[in-house]
Amino acid sequence: MELKNKVVLITGSTRGIGQAMALAFAKAGAKVIINGRHEQLSDEFKAILDSENAEYQYLSADLAQTDLKEFAKKAWDLYGKIDVLINNAGINRDKMLIGMREADFDQVINLDLRVPFFLTKAIIKKMNKERSGVVINMSSIVGLHGNAGQANYAAAKAGLVGFTKAAAREAAMRNIRVNAIAPGMINTDMTAELSDRVKKNILEQIPLTRLGEANEVAETAIFLAQNDYITGQTIVVDGGMTM
Ligand code: NAD
Repeated sequence: MELKNKVVLITGSTRGIGQAMALAFAKAGAKVIINGRHEQLSDEFKAILDSENAEYQYLSADLAQTDLKEFAKKAWDLYGKIDVLINNAGINRDKMLIGMREADFDQVINLDLRVPFFLTKAIIKKMNKERSGVVINMSSIVGLHGNAGQANYAAAKAGLVGFTKAAAREAAMRNIRVNAIAPGMINTDMTAELSDRVKKNILEQIPLTRLGEANEVAETAIFLAQNDYITGQTIVVDGGMTM
């Protein structure tokens, strides 16, 4: 897929990996729909987008409590189409299983699995008519291998891998591809919360001896959007941590 003038909707794209993807797609000539919970984009992010001559719209919505059919319609109507949907918004509420409250489970399953599921349903319905489209789900190596203290997050991210394969099989006949990315430890606000002891322990398990950068995940999303013959896959971006 040639990205120039394509429309890309990225959920949770005001910081971290989502922000890096918004910039990467804008640099490739795509029109980007940025989503976040705040009423407006920060002046700082606006300035970066403007310095890149990015074409973009901002669609504010807390996806954990938004009617996703309505959100999909609003997003679609901004440019009259969506060529690429990236289900990126995600949270974690880490606790050991025996101490995990129902709310910790429900909030993570809701934003990390239910929202991508129903947003994809609403957008793919529209993509079907175009006989073209790309969906990218942001999973995690935790969904492939598990991690102590993240049973809720692992369940949601593993769910996304299965969802990706089933949706890819259903949508392929209409020339719609569905893939997932499973990052390892990427340098963002999500990982900044980890203690130095945990970070040191993780670094020892990464053959490339460093955390990944958000733009390295963004480059993978660009590749998956552009390559017309990859579907149903989960691409691991983890510095060799889980090889
Ligand atoms: P982050 O916390 O920096 O960013 C998450 C984004 O989601 C933010 O923009 C946030 O505003 C948005 N968001 C949160 N709740 C939302 C809601 N209710 N409605 C709309 N947006 C909401 O995280 P990140 O590290 O950039 O992670 C992005 C994705 O990649 C997530 O799905 C995460 O699970 C996944 N991931 C991250 C890592 C990592 O190491 N950072 C590793 C594996 C997977």
